[in-house]
Amino acid sequence: MTDTLTIAERSRLMARIRGKNTGPERAVRALLHRAGYRFRLHASNLPGKPDIVLPRFRTVVFVHGCFWHRHAGCKVATMPKSHRRFWTEKFTRNVANDRKHRRRLRRMGWRVVTIWACGLKRPERVLAQIERALRPRTRRYVMVPPRALPQVAERRPGT
Ligand SMILES: [Zn+2]
Repeated sequence: MTDTLTIAERSRLMARIRGKNTGPERAVRALLHRAGYRFRLHASNLPGKPDIVLPRFRTVVFVHGCFWHRHAGCKVATMPKSHRRFWTEKFTRNVANDRKHRRRLRRMGWRVVTIWACGLKRPERVLAQIERALRPRTRRYVMVPPRALPQVAERRPGT
């Protein structure tokens, strides 16, 4: 595609797609809700502010737009024709941040599920993917009681 928009225009356009409470994110929430799960949203005290947090399962879900987060091999992850360097740097940063957040969360004992927006054409598969992550692990992981894990946000006494 030839990008006829300036960087500012394209940024505004894509930001509307990226924002909180986007369609894909709402769809995943609805899916989990219908399946009977309880969750929290946008945990600002966790690395990367995961879109959905399932505290009981110590699991977080990121719902990623394929364009911004560079879904590998996805036709939505196009490269705008103009301002290539700008976009390359931006995408590289996004992907590096995502990786860093996932790593930090795992170190804190969270399971991390990434849902790609394009996958929501098959909602039953998305739900299955999340539920696979929620199943207790018997081999590679040991269940740790939540208290033994580092607290994310602790209130100092008297504040
Ligand atoms: Zn995709």
